[in-house]
Amino acid sequence: MTDCIFCKIIAGEIPAYKIYEDDDILAFLDITQTTKGHTLVIPKTHVRNVLDMTEDQARTLFAKLPSIAANITGKLGATGLNMLQNNEAVAGQTVFHAHVHLIPRYSSDDGFK
Ligand code: 5GP
Ligand code: ZN
Repeated sequence: MTDCIFCKIIAGEIPAYKIYEDDDILAFLDITQTTKGHTLVIPKTHVRNVLDMTEDQARTLFAKLPSIAANITGKLGATGLNMLQNNEAVAGQTVFHAHVHLIPRYSSDDGFK
């Protein structure tokens, strides 16, 4: 999609720090590090959000989340992780290319809720 920031990241037109990539999905650091390692996981095929997804698209995105989350948590020494997902502006979505937030949690973090 021409005007989509995340499609531009997939195309390499906007730089991002990549955490994981395969044929179907990309995980990269969120520009706003809510905690150290805050990562976004996105499908490579543009879809607006979960409300527009087919079952196949959902399987592709969600199946890999546990291993990516475990990897990030293990590598950074986090002791927990929040998985967040916003759909439409009223629910806090600001980038309209489906994504899942992986937010590592540390015993020393500031209590982000
Ligand atoms: P949402 O509010 O839609 O759930 O989350 C969108 C996220 O995308 C925000 O946490 C925001 O910091 C992140 N973001 C927006 N623009 C960019 C960008 O150009 N690069 C990266 N890495 N993250 C971005
Ligand atoms: Zn897109």
